[in-house]
Amino acid sequence: MIKKTIEITNLKVAFSTRQGQVKAVNNISMTLHKGQVIAMIGETGSGKSVFGLSLLQLLPENAKLSGEAEYEGKNLLRLPTSDIRNIRGKKIALIPQNPDTSLNPIMKVKKQLRDVIDQKDKKTYIHKIINELKKYHLYDPERVSDAYPFQLSGGMKQRVLSASATMGKPDLIIADEPTKGLDVIIRNEVYQIFKKMIQDTDIGLLLITHDLIFANTISDKVAVLYAGEVIEYGDTKDLFNEPYHPYTKGFIEAQPYKNLKPIPGLPPSLIHLPEGCSFHPRCSKKMPVCSQLKPDLYSVGNRNVRCFLYA
Ligand code: SF4
Repeated sequence: MIKKTIEITNLKVAFSTRQGQVKAVNNISMTLHKGQVIAMIGETGSGKSVFGLSLLQLLPENAKLSGEAEYEGKNLLRLPTSDIRNIRGKKIALIPQNPDTSLNPIMKVKKQLRDVIDQKDKKTYIHKIINELKKYHLYDPERVSDAYPFQLSGGMKQRVLSASATMGKPDLIIADEPTKGLDVIIRNEVYQIFKKMIQDTDIGLLLITHDLIFANTISDKVAVLYAGEVIEYGDTKDLFNEPYHPYTKGFIEAQPYKNLKPIPGLPPSLIHLPEGCSFHPRCSKKMPVCSQLKPDLYSVGNRNVRCFLYA
């Protein structure tokens, strides 16, 4: 049986701005399990990264969080700074967006990785670091551990970040757009790195991505986000083979590997969200009720869909 890691209930995140409250995440509830990969997909601005970063309290100061993210009997959203620091990297690790800016440019790789394992004895920590780097097929791991980030290629840096995330043997890794801005060759390398990570560990993975090929390749479940809400959730293969929600269908059709057919209109303002279904201004299937009432997340077999067509 897979072990429950984080139980998220009614998570909301809003940012106070001069223009008003930006409602970035709106009432998301889900469970993240050890040994399971959940991909969170959606357009830019759908709330994916804000959701992931909120679990580690890594949002700017103007973020207001409510709801609960229960981990080991405590609410991650309300933990004091000293406690959340002890969880970050060790129990819940983050693989951030950009390998070029995520590693400290003036610190050798071995020093950056030592901070994760918190190991004082030099011989032991070097040995551990080299072993971890080897797992990611880094050619000449001794040289890599002794290098500064600028001496490594993009793919190598991504491998170092992945090693840094798995070294502390966390329960969960949150990977925030790990393929964003990468060329095809490095992107394929990253797919392989993550496949290896999943095969070799029982760590849970929350993969935040707009890269649907990546999501389809490695995840067990997919959560589709629109305007800060989960609008569809289900088993990856089923969902990609037969998406139910009109937005999910449109989003998949808009991908370069599909028909590149864009969804008409634009995502709504997160300050002035539409009444009723957030997708109704763009939906070709809308009915009168759609602009008046908010649909629930309805169960359809083992799928959840936020749409009146499935009520
Ligand atoms: Fe379209 Fe209505 Fe379903 Fe929203 S609830 S996706 S507007 S059919």
